[in-house]
Amino acid sequence: MKVAIVGLGLIGGSIALALKKSTRGSELTIIGIPRREETLKEALEKTIIDEGTIDLKKGVSDADVVFICTPISLVTQIIDEIGHSLKPGAIVTDVASSKESIVAKAESLLPPEVFFVGGHPMAGREKVKLAAAESGLFKDRIYILTPTKKSDRHAVKALTDLITLLGAKILKLDPVEHDRVVAAISHMPLAISAALVNTIAEHKHHQKEMVTCASTGFRDTTRIASGDPALGIDMFLTNNEAVLEMIDEFKSALTRLEAAIREHDTDAIAKLLKQAQNFRDDIYR
Ligand code: NAP
Repeated sequence: MKVAIVGLGLIGGSIALALKKSTRGSELTIIGIPRREETLKEALEKTIIDEGTIDLKKGVSDADVVFICTPISLVTQIIDEIGHSLKPGAIVTDVASSKESIVAKAESLLPPEVFFVGGHPMAGREKVKLAAAESGLFKDRIYILTPTKKSDRHAVKALTDLITLLGAKILKLDPVEHDRVVAAISHMPLAISAALVNTIAEHKHHQKEMVTCASTGFRDTTRIASGDPALGIDMFLTNNEAVLEMIDEFKSALTRLEAAIREHDTDAIAKLLKQAQNFRDDIYR
């Protein structure tokens, strides 16, 4: 089986490494299609891929499965570009963290003899690019697939089998449902984490002392603010509606806590903190 990976960064590189290391690694030919010659050279030298090219159409022409692992804003443009270079029966998937608009566009752009199934691995790091890629990135992590009524049953099964080789656990969600879920647990938290850091960054008095005293609590609460801004922009703009809905819900929750603090309402504060403590402890037992 020939697997082409368009975009060899953290996610694309990690998929290549995980597939090669998997039980079926020797049966798979991994074709890397990065943007730059330097990335291609690095991927070949480190044997992350078996072969590669920066010629997009040529790279995908013989592939059975194509993973599109570029920034979100490029996914549909790339699908449009490769559509007629793919062989009949080829399966195309992506890894972008927004799904509704990408899935709808991909299904309308690709020719009928090529199958699309959206995907999104719930695994990542603040560090990006090929140097950060690792074979164990998806182990025991959730990998969301977003098949629709239009998806080909056999393509969904074949992709599920391939992704299982990454060590990930598959969860199937409708694209709209996916976007709401991810807005809540990934995109809205990034907005809050960045706003929290900026509250200190823009603070006029005692900022130096605040930074000196900041310890593990501040570091843990703001970890995701260190991510690549380009990824954040894409998340907020491609999952706009769901992100804004979740930011509104967050503001309501903060306002409830603010009111309890303002009124010195010990019971209300305790109730809200206890609810958060119990819910979080249930998630990370
Ligand atoms: P990344 O490390 O920055 O990698 C993106 C890669 O895409 C880079 O290697 C870049 O090439 C390449 N690229 C850019 N434009 C291209 C083009 N026109 N043609 C071919 N390749 C191109 O980013 P990433 O973290 O892997 O993110 C990629 C995708 O994964 C995004 O859609 C994101 O939503 C999704 N995702 C990310 C995470 C995460 O935690 N980072 C988690 C889940 C899903 P160069 O190296 O040459 O610049």
